[in-house]
Amino acid sequence: MIPGPTPVPEKVLQALSKHPIGHRSKEFQDLVESTTKNLRWLHQTHNDVLTITGSGTAAMEAGIINTLSKGDKVICGENGKFGERWVKVAEEFGLEVIKIESEWGTPLNPEKFKKLLEEDKQKEIKAVILTHSETSTGVINDLESISSYIRAHNTALSIVDCVTSLGACNVPVDEWQLDIVASGSQKGYMIPPGLSFVAMSQKAWEATEKSNLPKFYLNLKSYRKSLISNSNPYTPAINLVFALEEALNMMREEGLDNIFLRHKKHKLAVSNAVKALNLKLFADERHLSPSITAIDTGEIDAEEFRKTIKNKFDILLAGGQDHLKGKIFRVGHLGYVNDRDIITVISAIGKTLIDLGKITSKEVGEALVEASKYLE
Ligand SMILES: *Cc1c(COP(=O)(O)O)cnc(C)c1O
Repeated sequence: MIPGPTPVPEKVLQALSKHPIGHRSKEFQDLVESTTKNLRWLHQTHNDVLTITGSGTAAMEAGIINTLSKGDKVICGENGKFGERWVKVAEEFGLEVIKIESEWGTPLNPEKFKKLLEEDKQKEIKAVILTHSETSTGVINDLESISSYIRAHNTALSIVDCVTSLGACNVPVDEWQLDIVASGSQKGYMIPPGLSFVAMSQKAWEATEKSNLPKFYLNLKSYRKSLISNSNPYTPAINLVFALEEALNMMREEGLDNIFLRHKKHKLAVSNAVKALNLKLFADERHLSPSITAIDTGEIDAEEFRKTIKNKFDILLAGGQDHLKGKIFRVGHLGYVNDRDIITVISAIGKTLIDLGKITSKEVGEALVEASKYLE
């Protein structure tokens, strides 16, 4: 139960094990056509959604280097490990970064974006780069408000990391007019790592005409050109595309609303159980990510705690990153996760706390009852 790679359904595993086919064959083109159609459905968009061989970071980097130029001024939202990464990428490519920060565990303040964008009368800000669901802390940022301020600015593009929000909660790309949306296969998509996706608006494509940053493999214009004939510029990870087809079909069967509801239920079940277990939520409770819950263990060593859970119950939880290592652990409930997984992980956490003498079985029972309320 880490926030990626997430569990892979049997049907998807079977699709992976097929013999690869030629990537210039009609059979493969049909697959590209159907997965592209379903990707648009998942993104709730009419925009192009391109599939890249590479992890989520490749998709974010592609979004940045295809639309911006050296010296461009950009705003980066930073309230966790991933926000920090997008600052590094932007700086590496010579962009001038204005950071909007918030303490890890708290959401970015949309008003700060509004203010900076409103003050930019010369329209020097070319993009706003931010993370929707900050996986390192379990915080969801208010993308809806922030994107409305970006639209009001009228020049800046939105470049958004939706890696752990897409396929977990509502990300209506057209309605919110998001320009560039990046995601990765090993998260909400329920397939192994190796593919990433970039949705590009018309405005984003227009920006590619002026962009002068170096790119070759990640030049999205090549991907757009081949997509016209349902093809790829280079040899794609064919078996992962087999898996993608299967996973997207499963998602369509479940339906977007049901997928979002399931993630919401699991978030509420875990977060309320955590409180009943006398543990603390690391993130601000009003801004919890649908896909991951970060738990502050207080004086208990979080690394030891999650090692015990791995050894005793064979459940892998994620640790804290950087200064949070040993202080928090994170429960992923993203993708192919069911109610039973949630009940099991709460039981495992509860039993471990009993063994540490922190609580009694009464609290564990209460936590399970509390969680069950949301799972009914
Ligand atoms: C996993 C993840 C990524 C992508 O990381 P890769 O290792 O490159 O796939 C990006 N952003 C967030 C918020 C993530 O959780």
